[in-house]
Amino acid sequence: MPLTTHTAPVVVTMTGEPPIRDGAVTVDGDRVTAVGPAAEVVKRHPDARVRRWDGVLTPGLVNAHTHLQYTDFAHLAASGLPFPEWLAALNRERADYTEARWQESARRGVHLMLKSGTTAVADIVTDPCVLTPVDRSGMRGISYIEVISDSPRWQAERRAKLLAVLETPLARTLGVSPHTPYTVGTAAFTDAVAIARARGLRVHPHLAESAHETEFVRDGTGPLAALNRTFGFAHELLAAGSGLTPTGYLDAIDALGGDVHVAHGVHLDAADRAVLRERATPVALCVRSNAILDAGVPPVADYLAEGSPIALGTDSPASSPSLDLWEEAAAVRELALRQGYTAADVDARLVEAATVGGAAAMGLTDAGRLAPGTRADFAVFAVPVDGDPHTALVTEGGGRCVGTVLGGRMVHRR
Ligand SMILES: [Zn+2]
Repeated sequence: MPLTTHTAPVVVTMTGEPPIRDGAVTVDGDRVTAVGPAAEVVKRHPDARVRRWDGVLTPGLVNAHTHLQYTDFAHLAASGLPFPEWLAALNRERADYTEARWQESARRGVHLMLKSGTTAVADIVTDPCVLTPVDRSGMRGISYIEVISDSPRWQAERRAKLLAVLETPLARTLGVSPHTPYTVGTAAFTDAVAIARARGLRVHPHLAESAHETEFVRDGTGPLAALNRTFGFAHELLAAGSGLTPTGYLDAIDALGGDVHVAHGVHLDAADRAVLRERATPVALCVRSNAILDAGVPPVADYLAEGSPIALGTDSPASSPSLDLWEEAAAVRELALRQGYTAADVDARLVEAATVGGAAAMGLTDAGRLAPGTRADFAVFAVPVDGDPHTALVTEGGGRCVGTVLGGRMVHRR
């Protein structure tokens, strides 16, 4: 296969170097072989075909939290239902879905991601039938198999089910997602994490999304206690709670660490945030989903100021206006500024979160950056190239993806 050199007025590599003006990336098969100033790179590979882009070329974006199978549930995000009713509506609709519909919905999600420059995804999988279409798409990242179970059901059947799904032969990496501290019993949660670790798999739960979760984990009371009773869940925390915050609770059961990243991270105080930093556990922020579900406002300015490892997630269209990661980044930026984060690095930090930050959250070493040897996953955004490219991407990158290359193949072109 002939080499291809992609040139652009600005190339953002995320390797620690500043953006390259008039840069280029040469691709051989599914790998990047050269990155640098276009004049040098073109000279070094004179036989390569040259494709000239307008705009900013970046590593493929990394969406650190979504549920691809819920792509077709966008009407729920628009419903305005508060969280418990939203969840009930979601469950009602689930009953009507066939495997074919789940797969179609997941495929549509993949398509929307590629169209907006995302090439890697942390996908929560409730129904294993979506593993195949996501695997075939060539998208990178991890499919986290969801666990929702109290501890008696876990022992009786769910544990065996998880073990069976983890044997699915796929090119894509699997992980385990114990759903939340309130939908997974304590013993089940601990064991699911242990199962992942015994296999070298990563873990990705939702954490501290709503104030109700804090109440449930601490006291064993509130609307989520009622929800557990409705579903007949014999959750250990129903008796008296744990006396801990959700973050403190996950830490106490050894469910945080460098092999874990959590979604949402809305209700964390300074001590909780310090625990996440000590455990090197990144947070995938999903601020637009939090707003739609009225879950609260995550302490974005504190995460930035304190140097917490962060990534960005769109969550699923069931609770989010889009799967476009720059649109999420713009919302996070607005929130950070509103919360008083005034440092000049805000846009650079958010570009980092959307690329290397997401890759780190999934332990991917050759995604989210462009250097010789990394996978040829990148995207081009038609944004102004004169000023700071980070600001241009974060504030104007939404809806502006003009090309996406996945493993060396052009998968989107506009
Ligand atoms: Zn989620």
